[in-house]
Formats: sequence, C-alpha cells, structure tokens
Amino acid sequence: MKKEENLGFKDTWRYLKKTYKYAKKERKYLIFFLIGCIVICGIEAVIPLFSARQIITLTNGLFDQVIIATLLIFLLEMSFNVIRFVNNVFFWKYFYALRKNIQLKLVSETLKITTDTLNQNSSGVFTERIGNDTSNLANITLQAIDQITYLITCFGILTSIFFLSKIIFVAFVFYILVTYLEQKYASEKIQEKRKILRKMSEKASGFASEMVRGCKDIKVLNAEKSFIQKSGEVVDRLNQDGWNMDITRHKFRLLGGSLSDLLDIAIVFLGIYCIIQNKLTIATMIIIFNYRGSIANISYNFESILESIKSFTLAASRVFEVIDGKEFPKETFGSTHLDKVKGNIEFKNVYFEYEQDNPILKGINLKIKPNETVSIVGRSGAGKSTIFNLIAGLYHPTQGKIKIDHVNIEELDKDSLRGNLSIISQNPYIFNMSIRDNLTIVKKDLTEEKMVEACKMAHLHDFILSLKDGYDTYVGEGGVILSGGERQRLAIARALVQETEIILFDEATSSLDNETQHEIQESIKSMQGKYTILIIAHRLSTVINSDRIILVDDGKVIDEGSHQELLKRNSLYKHLYELELKEEK
Ligand code: ADP
Repeated sequence: MKKEENLGFKDTWRYLKKTYKYAKKERKYLIFFLIGCIVICGIEAVIPLFSARQIITLTNGLFDQVIIATLLIFLLEMSFNVIRFVNNVFFWKYFYALRKNIQLKLVSETLKITTDTLNQNSSGVFTERIGNDTSNLANITLQAIDQITYLITCFGILTSIFFLSKIIFVAFVFYILVTYLEQKYASEKIQEKRKILRKMSEKASGFASEMVRGCKDIKVLNAEKSFIQKSGEVVDRLNQDGWNMDITRHKFRLLGGSLSDLLDIAIVFLGIYCIIQNKLTIATMIIIFNYRGSIANISYNFESILESIKSFTLAASRVFEVIDGKEFPKETFGSTHLDKVKGNIEFKNVYFEYEQDNPILKGINLKIKPNETVSIVGRSGAGKSTIFNLIAGLYHPTQGKIKIDHVNIEELDKDSLRGNLSIISQNPYIFNMSIRDNLTIVKKDLTEEKMVEACKMAHLHDFILSLKDGYDTYVGEGGVILSGGERQRLAIARALVQETEIILFDEATSSLDNETQHEIQESIKSMQGKYTILIIAHRLSTVINSDRIILVDDGKVIDEGSHQELLKRNSLYKHLYELELKEEK
C-alpha cells in the first residue's frame, strides 16, 4: 500500500473512476444532483444581489420596489430550500447505492482472501474497511462535489467584484491568501492532535470491548475495582487528548473569526474611501458588502476540499487494496466441475510447509474410499489438522497431489471442491442467529422436514425442542447459550443439511463430558456408511467404530489398520492408548 503522504491527485482520479463504476446504474441521481448543485450555485450568487437592491430602494423611499424585491428574495429563498431538499434526496439515493455496491464487493472479495493472509492480519483490518472506509468513500465523494460547486460560486462572485472595484478585489484576494495560510497551518496542527486522539480512542474502545468480553472472568477474579480504576485512567487520557484537540481547534476558530471581523472593517473603510473618491456607488458598495461572507469562506472551503480529497483517496486506497487483491492475495481455483462427488480421496506424496524450510507434511500417501469412516490419530502437532486444511483447499501442497474422485483438487472449481465437503471443526463458529437461521444460511431452500431430519441425525432435535423457542431460539454471539457439545452437534447438523458427500470432523480436544461425547459418537454412527467421513480423533477410545485408523507422526503416515491391529503391532499407538487410559484414571 502506498503511504498516506505518497497518495497524489493521480491516485484520486484513478479511484474516482473506479468508484464511479460501482453505482453506474444509479448515475441519473448523480447527474440530477450535479444539476441541482449548479442551480443552487446560481441562486446563492443572486440572493445577495437582490437583498442589496432591496436596501437601496428602501433608502430611496421606493416602497413598491422594496415589496417586489422582498417577494423575489422570499421566492428565491423558498425555491432554494426546496431544491436543496430534493438535491439531498438525490445525494442520498446515489450514496446508498454506491455504499451498498462497494460494501457487497468488499465483503465478497474479503471472503476470497487466502487463509494465510487472513491469519496474518487482525480482523479489524477488514471490518474497518467494510464499515468505515466504504461509508467515508461514498460520503466524501459527494461532500467534495458539494464543496466544489460552492467554491465555484464564490469564485464567480470574486470575479464580479473585480469588475466592480479593483481595490476591494485586491483586499479580498489578500484576505483569502492570509486566511488560506492560517487554515492550512490550523488544519495541520488539528490533524496532529486528531491522530493522537484517534489512537487513544482505539485503545479505549479496545479496552472497553475486552472488559465486556471478559466480564464473567472479571467478576470471578473479583477484579472489578482495578478494572474500574483502569477505566478511569483510560477515560482521563482520552479526555486530555480530546481537550488538546478541542482547545487547538477553538484557538484557531477565534483567530479565523477575528480575521473575518478585520475583513469587515477593512471593506467598510475601503468602501467609504472609494465612495468619497467617487470610484464606487453606495449601491455597489452594499452589493460587495453582502458578498463578503462567501468570500470569507473561500479559503476555508478550499482547505476542506483538499482535506476531503485526501480522505477520499486514503479510504479508496484501503478499499481497493482488498478488492484488487495485490496486498491481500485471493484464493485460486481450477475450472473442472464435478456436480456430486462419490467421495474418493487420495493423497499422493504430499509435502507441505506453512513457513519456508519448516516442512509439516513430509510425503503423505493415503487413500479413502467412498462412504468409508476413517480416523486419523497421532501426537499433537503431527499434522492431522493440516491434512484437513489441504483437503479443503485452504492451503496448497508444496509438492505432490491431492485428488477427489481422481481429479487433482487444484483443477476443481470452487463449488466442486467446497460444495462437496464440510468441515466440523473443534470449536465450530456458530452465528449469532436462531438455530433455524444457522441451518438455512448454508442451504437456502432447506425444508422443515430435512432440517428436522438432520438435527435428529445429529442427536440435537430433542434438545432443540426443549428450548423455549425451539428452532427459533437465538443462540447468542458465537452460540454462547450452547455447550461445547451442542455447538459441535449443531455444526454436524449444519454439515448434514449441506448434504456434502465428504465430512471432515475434528473431534473436540477439550474434554467433553461422557454423555456429550456419547451423543456425538451416536451422531457420527448415524452418518456412518452414508458419507465419506474423516475424523481427527483426539481420544483413541472414540476411534473403535471407524472402518480404518491412520496413524500420523511427524508429518508422515506411519501405520494404518484397525484398533486391535495397531494396538498389537505399533508401539507408538500402544503408547498413546496407554497414556490415555492413565489420564482417564
Ligand atoms: P495436529 O492437528 O496434528 O495437532 P497441526 O496440523 O495442527 O497438528 O499442526 C502441525 C504443525 O503445524 C504444528 O507444529 C503447528 O504448530 C504448525 N501449524 C499449524 N498451523 C499453522 C499455521 N497457520 N502457521 C504456521 N504453523 C502452523
């Protein structure tokens, strides 16, 4: 990623073109909005002219004309308000379409990022971009357009002043330059303070969310007092940084206000001088005086446009970094399509390493037949989960081939691979939705009958019925109202409704109580013979029902057979089994 300070106007233009593509269909609203801006520009430019005429006619005692001028101003002001309202509607129509399309694209691209890259980045990197940056990107684009049109009006007014009085024009230009420098200096100083404040508020919200998540432990640890004290310290720091920023901002606001007052006085004196010298009529002087507000805003506007452009470019660079995928590589798939696989899995001399020169799998060979139930066992760190990661295509072998139904998985398209297998991990992610939604999210057209059937097979149906809202019970964040075993059984049901032929099951290492373990074993038993099931078994007592057991050690398959066969001939298997028996005692 280019650093913030290296992003230039070329990048802004490039990102504007890219952003525009995301709401091309809604461009009519953008066009209406731009036309509205031009009309608003025009009205803003003429209102001071009419009010000046009003004052002149009033001083000349021409009351009829005063009434006409007043009515005209009233009509202009009213139409200005209506046009502004309608224009805002166009603004928001375009804004929502743009934000939605960019957010959807970003979400779909984030889901394609390789597992490696996701592991290397904190989730905040992506949530910030999906939430804040997309909103900023769309919001700032439109805000900048609004500011630019206003700036054009102001420059139009400045040009008319040039023709009305050269001296006053020079005074205005001088004022613009001085206030621009003041604004620039002020915004640099405020930006510095804002950066410090942003860092501090990130820390504070991190601390708050940690406190909420760890609430239960804080209570049990009886550590409320120290956490409240720490909260106080964090809030004090936050207040101090906030105060530093606010006071700086107010100091510069005071300076800006004083400069504007000075401009008023200078214009009045210059005007009087010009009138005495017969270089200006009173009428023209009043017109110029009425316009001074817009002129005073030029430098402020210019500075905020530059700020908006910078913020837009930064937000866009962060968003397109994910979409374009240079910084965050995406998963790649082949083009061979298999509708429904039979369930053959084959590893042919597979090598793999997460980090260079640190091989984890060292020439794995294995064959699994359709509808077979095979357990993979071995010491912790032997490479069992890595085998699963490779079958699911979350990582790619550095050497060798993995085949499903005799086709190298590198050649399979995404649906053929991921649509034909499900993984039930040790700690499956349960979404913060109802049980029903947790199941329908993976299968849109799921019928009630199939859902109940899957839950029965997963030995979860009776439990669900015992809940107050049954299948419509909300399970909370991460399935918090469910026990570890229930979460795993819900994940089993989720895999079953997907109706994938291959099921990869990573048994929970955390010691589940005997009854839960038994329920899970029963659900696996109900699936046996109907699916190709691969189980990472952490407890050897649970592998007895498998058709076959594969023993893995140090990234290699060192033996395979039935429980009894391995117990008889393999010393490592025997050792692991005895170790487990000892632990159970
Ligand atoms: P098992 O499932 O047999 O306990 P794993 O397949 O999880 O073993 O891990 C095998 C080895 O790979 C371990 O040494 C582990 O530390 C390492 N490992 C696992 N995941 C990663 C990763 N994402 N990055 C780097 N090393 C990893």
